[in-house]
Amino acid sequence: MSGEDNDFLEKTPCPACGNLPARILGRLGPTLLRKCRSCSLIYISPRLATSVREEMLRREPSPLSSERNLMLRHKMAEHMERMHREMPKVEGMNKRSATLLEIGCRWGHFLQLCRPHYRSVEGLEWSKERAAFARERFDLQVSATDIFRDPWDNRYNVVAAWDVMEREPHPLEFLRWVHDHLEPGGQLMLSTPNYNSISRRLLRKRWPYFEPSRHLCYFTPATLTALLRQAGFRDVTVKTSGLSSLRGWFSGINKVDRSLDARSQWLDNLRGREAVEEARRENLKGIGRESAWKKIRKQIAGVLSGIVTAPGWGDQMRIYARRD
Ligand SMILES: [Zn+2]
Repeated sequence: MSGEDNDFLEKTPCPACGNLPARILGRLGPTLLRKCRSCSLIYISPRLATSVREEMLRREPSPLSSERNLMLRHKMAEHMERMHREMPKVEGMNKRSATLLEIGCRWGHFLQLCRPHYRSVEGLEWSKERAAFARERFDLQVSATDIFRDPWDNRYNVVAAWDVMEREPHPLEFLRWVHDHLEPGGQLMLSTPNYNSISRRLLRKRWPYFEPSRHLCYFTPATLTALLRQAGFRDVTVKTSGLSSLRGWFSGINKVDRSLDARSQWLDNLRGREAVEEARRENLKGIGRESAWKKIRKQIAGVLSGIVTAPGWGDQMRIYARRD
């Protein structure tokens, strides 16, 4: 690796246990997918340097330029709220007197939906722009902060982290932070892509959740459960649902041009990713004004995918765990 690449990329041992020996599962775009020989966590190395990734997170473009985008965000928040309702009943906890923290709350839509059910809701968000949006639009208490650098003394009854784990450079430290900031008996709920899913097996490297620029770790129900136990959590429940469409197969994500140097390969991958995102947004344009027939078709597809993913093969993994 040249000196220039050292500022841009970092080679890492296993992000969970810190051990170096790993089996290489194959090339993933501009990087390598590895499986730790000690704890079986799947991760990428090399990855974009922390400073580069943090800068990307801080200035992630806000696609909230229109009411349509706002509606899409709201739809996603409704999905999160359904996952939130699956949270196991916590003995002795009355939600109306409970406090909720969401880590990675983006524009605040989920918190806004949950607000009527809790005594107080609060959010943490990387991007200053999104945090400001959540404060101004919804009058929510959202801080743009880095949990590992800025002191944070509050404790909560419930912590939510939707699609955050796969982006964490230190997943075990992240879970320990959450554990320390939960009240005794408090509940954690999180979601992350499921590496064991049937779509990942079928689509292989074209699985759309393989995003080397943003997703650093890939969990299975077993590796995530083990990490949660290590961080001190009890009563771990895992559920999965959803199947990626085969569209991922055709989008050519994570193709790599071998004639480019490492830096250009990463930049190429990022550009390709942006194009996929843009296409996805275009595809979602019609949402909300779908015909009745399309809605029925979607519901049928939902029921069928529920049957197929019942043995834990869904793309999306939801995890609920409790602090003693
Ligand atoms: Zn490991």
